[in-house]
Amino acid sequence: MCKLCGEDCQIWGDFQVSESLDLYEQVALKVNKPLVIDSSKNVDWIRQQVRSIESTSTQPYLIFLRRDGRAVINSRIRKYPKKNAKDLIADWSEQIQLTNALFDAFPHKKLKVSYEEFATNSEAIARQICEFLEVEYEPEMLNYGTHEHHVLGGNNGTQFLVAQAQSEKLKNPFVQVPERSKSFYQNLSGISLDLRWKQELDPSVARLFEEMAGRINQELKWEV
Ligand SMILES: [Zn+2]
Repeated sequence: MCKLCGEDCQIWGDFQVSESLDLYEQVALKVNKPLVIDSSKNVDWIRQQVRSIESTSTQPYLIFLRRDGRAVINSRIRKYPKKNAKDLIADWSEQIQLTNALFDAFPHKKLKVSYEEFATNSEAIARQICEFLEVEYEPEMLNYGTHEHHVLGGNNGTQFLVAQAQSEKLKNPFVQVPERSKSFYQNLSGISLDLRWKQELDPSVARLFEEMAGRINQELKWEV
C-alpha cells in the first residue's frame, strides 16, 4: 500500500507485476518517466535486479548512500528498543561489508554519496548526482516535500515531512511517526542534517560500536 495515499493510490492501487517486462520497465511505463530509482538497500535484491536488466536496453547506475554507522545504530536502537545493541551493530557491519563488495564488483557507472555531506551541502551534491545520472539539475529537486511521491517502503520521518507539507492534498496519509519523534520532524524545514545520535547514543554502545565496527566506520565517520 502507498504510504502517502493509502489504498486509492493512482500508481500502486491497481499495479500488477507482469512476467513479460522487467519491474523497472513496468514502473517507467506506469509513471511515464524514463528514470526509475530503486532505493532498496538489500544487496541480494539489487544483484538480482541488475542481472535481470542487463539483458535489456536499460542502463543501470549504482549509488551507495552512506552514513556514519553511529547515527544508523542510534536510529535502529530508537526504532527497535528491545533488540540487543550488539546484534544491531553486527547486522550493520555485515550490511556495509556486503554493500562494499557489491559496489566494488559493480561493472557499470557507480557513485558514493555521503548522507551528511548531502544534508549540509545539498545543492552541490544534488548537482553531482544529476551529472552522474545524466539528467539536468533543477532547484525544485531540493523541495522534495512539495512534489508527488508514492512510496511503498523507506523512511517514515522523511515521508511524514512530505505528508506535512502537502496536508491539504494528503488528508489521511498512511505514514505516521511515533509521538516521541513528532516535534523533531515538525521543526524541520527542508533537508537538514540529523545528528541526534551525538546526544542520544549511550556511551557504552558507542564503545562497543568502536570495538566491533570502528574499522569499517573509519571512512564513514562524520566528525563536525
Ligand atoms: Zn500513492
